[in-house]
Amino acid sequence: MIRRIAALLLLLMNLIQGDEAEVGAADDQTHPAPRDAPVAGCGPLLTNIAPTPRPLRHILFDFVRAHGRTTRAEMGRALGISAASVSAATSDLISEGLLRETPIPPTPESPPPRSSRGRPPVELQVAAEAHHVIGMKLGDQRHTAVLSDFAGRRIAEARLATRPNRKSAAILIAEARALMDHLLTGQGMVRADISCVGVGMAGMVDFTTGDVPWSPMLDSPGTALRARFESAFGLPTFLDNDANLLTLAELWFGGGRSKSDFAVVTIEHGVGMGLVLFNQLYRGARGVGMELGHTKVQLDGALCRCGKRGCLEAYVADYALAREAATALDQHASLSESPLALLEELFAEARRGNEAALSIFRRAGRYLALGLSNVAQIFDPEVIILAGGRMQYDYLYAQEVLAEMQAMTLTGARTPVRIDIHAWGDLVWAQGAVAMALGALTERLLAVPSIRGSAA
Ligand SMILES: [Zn+2]
Repeated sequence: MIRRIAALLLLLMNLIQGDEAEVGAADDQTHPAPRDAPVAGCGPLLTNIAPTPRPLRHILFDFVRAHGRTTRAEMGRALGISAASVSAATSDLISEGLLRETPIPPTPESPPPRSSRGRPPVELQVAAEAHHVIGMKLGDQRHTAVLSDFAGRRIAEARLATRPNRKSAAILIAEARALMDHLLTGQGMVRADISCVGVGMAGMVDFTTGDVPWSPMLDSPGTALRARFESAFGLPTFLDNDANLLTLAELWFGGGRSKSDFAVVTIEHGVGMGLVLFNQLYRGARGVGMELGHTKVQLDGALCRCGKRGCLEAYVADYALAREAATALDQHASLSESPLALLEELFAEARRGNEAALSIFRRAGRYLALGLSNVAQIFDPEVIILAGGRMQYDYLYAQEVLAEMQAMTLTGARTPVRIDIHAWGDLVWAQGAVAMALGALTERLLAVPSIRGSAA
C-alpha cells in the first residue's frame, strides 16, 4: 500500500515537472493550430502509387487530406478518375461525416465563378472535428504527447518527466495513462472523445503483434504490450518503434511528403532507421527490421547496450560518446553526471579545441559515415534524412564525415545520395505517432468499400 502511494506521489511530481517543461517547443517545425484555422493538408502526397490496392474512397480521402482542400474536378484530373466515380465516392464520404463541402473563398484576383444554375462552387476538406487522435512518444528522459484532429492539426501537447532507468511495463503504462489524462483534462475532453492512440518507444517493436521483445526502457520483454496499453486506455492503440515514428513524421508533415523512396536515420539515445518505399513506411516481414544501430561495424568490438558487441550504436549513440567522455574529461566530469550532461560538456570542450574531445566526435562521425554508406549501398534511397536530438552535435555530420561516407559508397556514374539534416524539436516523435494513429484510423474507417465505392 505504501509503495502504491509512493508511486502515485512520484507520478504526481512528474506531472508537475512536465507542466514546468511545457514551454520550449519553439524549435519544432510544426505548431498547434487554432481549431478554426484553415486546413493546410498533411499526409503522403503521392496517394496513388501505393503498391497495395485500396478502395477508391480511401484514395480520394487521402488526396483531400494531403492537399488540405481540393475540388472534385482537381481530384479527377490528378488521379485520372471519371467525374461520376469521384462524385459517387465523395458523396458517400460526406454522408458518413468524413469529408465536407465548403464554399471556395473568393480572392480579389478570382471572384467566385458560378455554375449555370447559380450554385456557388465548392471544395472538399476533411471534417476535422469528426475524430481526434493522440500520438505519444515514451522516452527515457520524458514522455511527450500530442492531441490532433482528423485533419492532422495539432490541438494540444503535453510532456511528462520520467526517470531514465529501466522500468516495468506496468509503470510505463501508468505513466502513459497519466500523461494522456493530463493532456485531455487541459482540453476539457475525456478518453471517449478519442478514436485512436499511437504510441512509440525505443527498442524492437513488432507492429503487427504489439510485442516488444527488447527495449532499453523495459526491465523485461513486453509481451502483448500493445494489448496492455489498449486495455489501460480503453481505446484502440497502435505501437511502433520510435525511429518509425520519426519517419512517419517526415512522410506526413516533413520533407518526405512528396518522396517515393527515402530513409531516415535517427541519432538519439540509440541509432535508429526508418525506410519509406512507394511513399509508404516499410516495416519488414515481422515488424522488427531497420535496426541500423545494431548492424555490426566491428567484429568483437565495443559492447552495445543490446548485449552484443560491435554494433554501430556502440560507437555513435550518446551513451557511447558519454562512455568515452568520462575519460577525456577526467578532471571535470563526475561519474554521477547524466550521459546528457557529460555529452554537453564534451561538446563544449570540442568547441574549445580540446583534441581528446574532438577525436571522440570524429571517430563517431567516421562510424556514422560507415553506417550511412551501408544504407545508401543497400537501399539506394532518393535521400537520407539525418534527424534526432543529437543533430546539434554537428561534428557527427561535418563535411569530412559526409565526404567519407560518399567515398565509401560505390555509385558508379550516378549522383551520390543526398543527405538532409533535420533538427526537429522533441514533439516530432509524438507528431509521428499522430500520423500512425491517423493512418490506422483511416484504414479502419475506409477499408470496407461502401455500396457505391469501387475498388481502384
Ligand atoms: Zn546492439
